[in-house]
Amino acid sequence: MPNTSIDNDILTVIHHGGYRTVTGSCHQLDIKPSGLRLLIDCGQYQGDEAREARVHLNGKGIDALILTHAHIDHCGLLPWLLAAGFSGPIYCTEATAALVPLLINDTLKLQLNMRHGDRQRILKRISQLMVHLPYNTWHRLKPKQKGQSATYLRLQPAGHILGSAYVELKLPDERRVVFSGDLGPCNTPLLPDPKPPARADILYLESTYGDKTHQSVATRSQRLEAIIQHSLQDGGAILIPAFSVGRTQELLFDIEQLIYQKQLDNALPIILDSPMAQQVTRQYRHFKKLWSKEANAKLNQHRHPLAFDQCITIDAHSQHQALVNRLKQTGEPAIVVAASGMCQGGRIMNYLNALLPDPRTDVILAGYQAQHTLGRELQQGKKQVWIDNEAINVQAQIHTLSGYSAHADQTDLVNFVHGIQPPPEQIQLIHGEPDSQRMLLKCIENITR
Ligand SMILES: [Zn+2]
Repeated sequence: MPNTSIDNDILTVIHHGGYRTVTGSCHQLDIKPSGLRLLIDCGQYQGDEAREARVHLNGKGIDALILTHAHIDHCGLLPWLLAAGFSGPIYCTEATAALVPLLINDTLKLQLNMRHGDRQRILKRISQLMVHLPYNTWHRLKPKQKGQSATYLRLQPAGHILGSAYVELKLPDERRVVFSGDLGPCNTPLLPDPKPPARADILYLESTYGDKTHQSVATRSQRLEAIIQHSLQDGGAILIPAFSVGRTQELLFDIEQLIYQKQLDNALPIILDSPMAQQVTRQYRHFKKLWSKEANAKLNQHRHPLAFDQCITIDAHSQHQALVNRLKQTGEPAIVVAASGMCQGGRIMNYLNALLPDPRTDVILAGYQAQHTLGRELQQGKKQVWIDNEAINVQAQIHTLSGYSAHADQTDLVNFVHGIQPPPEQIQLIHGEPDSQRMLLKCIENITR
């Protein structure tokens, strides 16, 4: 059953997903005087949470969809929403509009085994409905009821992944509602930090890491270097399972920096073996205008942080298989970045299958590993794992590297709230597990007006 967090004369907010969970973000706002029904995100539940709920939406009853960013747990239900009759505008940034079709295409292929032509039809329809909004610009949403005031919508940089935004709404009674979407951490080198909104009467705040403090972003490339140097001493491959969107680009960015500073041998091949990650990386390069000042300064030095010479990309499956075999036979050193980030499917599985039994192999886990995933089993030090119904002995060295999270931690979230002056009247925590929400609430409960 969906939860309702606000229900008054002006506004009703119903959460179809992403309320007391980290995934499945989907929030319905009924703006009563104007008769508008908006949806913020329509994401799929993922991992263990996928078992929890089925979302039933009446697409015809929704006037517009606002997407905060392209992650599947924020946009993955789009094809189902279209099938349920939705035909309104989809508001998002231009970069999100470029990334969403890549991720939806992948989802339709993997989850539904849908044919190319059918996928293309759905993607075309999505692109037709998309309305690109620039950051920091109010957009008027016409009221459905005559004589009523309009509602205004504005997107602001969220620093989470390319194109990500938090949502500001100015209601007919002038009150401001802000939905944080997923907020990025501060001080990451590639994207600028999110800035708090100038005003938020009601704040819906994500709380994924409401109970955690990440290791410093500032030292993460030093730690990456230390692990890589140590691994190179005995040869063998270094495998980095990584999410295609965000994490892969941050890793490439840091690896380029290590090569530039001559801390890594410039003969060491860096292999990006993920067609999806390549397409996403292309979009990251295309939208350089969204990069941070620091990242742009590298471009001015004629460096290519996401497309450097040593970075080899693998496309065809035959090429991929040949490389897996070669690394297995020769044990030559190489850094391989491949999806999926939690070692649940994707090309990384063939590398793990072939190379986990080799003690020269190193695996760097740079992202969150959910329960019941192969990534978590490796992290826990299991000496035998199952891949494709085959028992694999784990002789490889497993390393965990934090600091690559795309999410704000507790300090970032508290600072975000503190930055809103005057403080919000009401703060509702969403996108988090109950424990992490309880911890975050303790830190911010004295802030509201
Ligand atoms: Zn996200």
